Amino acid sequence: MPKDKKLSSSELPEKIAHKKSKDKYKDLLAEYPNLWVSRSGDDFDHAYAMSEEYKRFLDGGKTEREFVSLTIESAEQLGFVDVNTVSVLTPGMKVYQSVKDKGLMLAVIGRRPAVEGFNILGAHIDSPRLDLKPNPLYEESEMAFLKTHYYGGIKKYQWPTLPLSIHGLFVRRDGSKIQITVGEKEDDPIFYITDLLPHLGAEQMSKKASEVISGEDLNLLIGGRPIADKDASNRFKLGILDYLHREYGVVEKDFVSAEIEIVPALKARDVGFDRSFVAAYGHDDKVCSFPALMALFQQERPEKTSVVMLSDKEEIGSNGNTGAQSRLYENFLVELFVKMSGGYDELNYRKSITASKMLSADVTNGYDPTFSSVSDPKNSAYMSRGIAMEKYVGSRGKYGTNDTNSEFFAEILRAFEKNDIPWQTGELGKIDAGGGGTIAVYMAQMGMEVIDCGVPVLSMHAPYEVISKIDLYFTYLAYRVFLENL
Ligand code: MN
Ligand code: MN
Repeated sequence: MPKDKKLSSSELPEKIAHKKSKDKYKDLLAEYPNLWVSRSGDDFDHAYAMSEEYKRFLDGGKTEREFVSLTIESAEQLGFVDVNTVSVLTPGMKVYQSVKDKGLMLAVIGRRPAVEGFNILGAHIDSPRLDLKPNPLYEESEMAFLKTHYYGGIKKYQWPTLPLSIHGLFVRRDGSKIQITVGEKEDDPIFYITDLLPHLGAEQMSKKASEVISGEDLNLLIGGRPIADKDASNRFKLGILDYLHREYGVVEKDFVSAEIEIVPALKARDVGFDRSFVAAYGHDDKVCSFPALMALFQQERPEKTSVVMLSDKEEIGSNGNTGAQSRLYENFLVELFVKMSGGYDELNYRKSITASKMLSADVTNGYDPTFSSVSDPKNSAYMSRGIAMEKYVGSRGKYGTNDTNSEFFAEILRAFEKNDIPWQTGELGKIDAGGGGTIAVYMAQMGMEVIDCGVPVLSMHAPYEVISKIDLYFTYLAYRVFLENL
């Protein structure tokens, strides 16, 4: 340093010594920096750009059926074909298999033989919502309503006084399918669940939050004009049935077998002056499904066969033949094995599954300073610090979790660090505060290595949830590194 230059206070010898010692210990301490602080402008541009495409997927794929058809449409444009249309699979081929139109398996065939295993990204595409009861339609006090039965873990009081839309499927007796979506277009009507005015809400407001609105209170207002025939009974209900019959050709009994879902009629929107967050219905778990797909769509001739699994029914326990516990998902892996290997061999198939690796791509709770009491701040996932890697989830003393093997966990972290992928860790809240499960356990049962990881979410399971754009982008990069390096 030139003699005549005055030392600024930041260059004083003791400060320099301090900085050196800080560097010396840097590698010893775990740090999980905020990515808006630690990363650069290019990353931010990519994050903002990716979130635009993500919002399009969110708005077009609110239900599992819609998400499946939107994904197949995008995949086919990129050269994916139905796996049933090909008999031999060679490196670089891209295939998919719909699971009853409510789940989806996709793969890009790798250069290595099937027996060396698959790299699988597994996410779910169902989200908490309201379904209809089998006999939903009734009239009362000269208004028509639909009775609902909620699906997944919701706070029931969050659903009244929101604009709601109806999405679903009627299958008529002749087998013909009638798809309906009302409430999403700008000039569509919306539907509505009422709440009590505060003037008369004294008794309601003294109740526990879980009882303020009961399951039987979640009744959807769908109309209020009777048919013209003054002598008919049920004139208001008939007003609706008459409309539904004219518009869709369905009758009341068609509701019994239908799958009709009520979701918020809200578009995905940026949050904040700086637009750093996105609010939307169904981030859980489209915010992992979407980057998983984007990572797969980047694969041309990967080393290992890359698979994305999008499952249904996660929010109610992954049961049924479209839930992650269903063999229909594994059937696709069998089909990949057979068509890659030229035949079925039980032992080698099982070796292939044992050699397979999976990221159970699901959201976690982002640390919320307003509700900090339910989280251990030292073991929480924070917004904008990237993908949260969770060795275990579960509840009541790790009950019901896949507790990832250290060897596999460390292998993934090595790949992330080698490829400059930031990551963080966390738990789903304080030990005794609650907890939750994912599809990881069901896939691990087959013998593959599995770890839970995903994007932190604020207000998880609310009708309108929040994620950080930078987390979405770096989760996509993390999923790519997994597909390309494990
Ligand atoms: Mn989830
Ligand atoms: Mn969930």
